[in-house]
Amino acid sequence: MKFQSFLIKYGEIGIKGKNRYIFEDALMRQIRFALKDVEGTFNVHKAQGRVYVDCDGEFDYDETVAGLKRVFGIVGICPVIHVEDKGFDELKKVVVNYMDEMYPDKNTTFKVEARRGKKSYPKNSMEINCEIGEAILEAFPEIKVDVHKPAIKLNIEVREEIYIYSEIIPGPGGMPVGTNGKAMLLLSGGIDSPVAGYMISKRGVGLEATYFHAPPYTSERAKQKVIDLAKLVSKYSGPIKLNIVNFTDIQLYIYDKCPHDELTIIMRRYMMKIAEYFAKESGCLGLITGESIGQVASQTMQSLMATNDVCSLPVYRPVIGFDKQEIVDIAEKIDTYETSILPFEDCCTIFVAKHPVTKPNLNIIRRSEENLAEKIDELFEQAIQTVETIVVKP
Ligand code: ATP
Ligand code: MG
Repeated sequence: MKFQSFLIKYGEIGIKGKNRYIFEDALMRQIRFALKDVEGTFNVHKAQGRVYVDCDGEFDYDETVAGLKRVFGIVGICPVIHVEDKGFDELKKVVVNYMDEMYPDKNTTFKVEARRGKKSYPKNSMEINCEIGEAILEAFPEIKVDVHKPAIKLNIEVREEIYIYSEIIPGPGGMPVGTNGKAMLLLSGGIDSPVAGYMISKRGVGLEATYFHAPPYTSERAKQKVIDLAKLVSKYSGPIKLNIVNFTDIQLYIYDKCPHDELTIIMRRYMMKIAEYFAKESGCLGLITGESIGQVASQTMQSLMATNDVCSLPVYRPVIGFDKQEIVDIAEKIDTYETSILPFEDCCTIFVAKHPVTKPNLNIIRRSEENLAEKIDELFEQAIQTVETIVVKP
């Protein structure tokens, strides 16, 4: 079947009233971004309160659909054929051919749903429904009509041209990126943080990211892995500004001055502080982490409280109530899993204690941090000054 356009169905939440155009414009912008590198010429536009992607000439159908499936805000993608209005008998023939090609197995049920945008068309919607329905029944004796729960809902929209579609390919849902500000993702090379970024972005939030590495304890390959993960997430979220922070000196200093069982918590607190610094500097409205209650010692309720303590921005933790397998399932769906499990060292694991505290006491942690008073401000400043910032795109 040769389709000429896609009708984009989007969710209704949050798009009613005056703000509707903001939502639609953001959706169209994200669609253009998603199709930027797909073979074909696409015209993304609004008509009669709906968003269409018109495909001029040859285009790669599979890639187009794959691109659209990554655009948050889309709930359904309907491939449409356009036919010229050459009279009603001709339309019947086209529809019968369409049904034949689209549904080789006729042991199914259908319903015709016509809409008449062009009021001068000689038949009204009811007449189109009945007469096209009859033509289909005549052509295929096994097929049945079911007006309540049809397996196939055949849409016929009469405009200057006639649009025919019946298939709805599910989109990712959510809200178009750009409709809800932006947030700073703490992106490690693990499984959880890319998923966390995806989930928040799905609600219309643009992403920036911060990664902490510890050269020479962590390698260039570990860093490249994080860039690759950011690239994969940016297929959904749009371009991600990634801050790569050299954390080595801070880690070594903490290692030198603080009790080893508190290292992870204190390190995590400094990560949050630095990420928050960059977040505020670029107008992000929150931080995002891939933490999940109880997953590791640094993610008990007490540990989360201790890391949260240093932040003034809200910290979004979308996988907080998920089991590991549930996070893995999403990572597989969004295609970050295979990259996340590549075995490169992480800056946290290198300095990790054998027996980290699982129930840190905030007062004790703060007191231990007093040991850092002499040099930590300087090291903090140095980490910020030496940041490497890149913009990551798919
Ligand atoms: P992930 O799979 O996301 O790495 P994790 O299960 O390994 O998570 P932790 O290492 O405790 O958990 O990290 C918790 C969260 O802290 C991560 O999800 C991430 O948001 C942030 N984080 C940890 N290490 C780093 C890092 N090196 N750079 C940036 N953020 C980090
Ligand atoms: Mg990790």
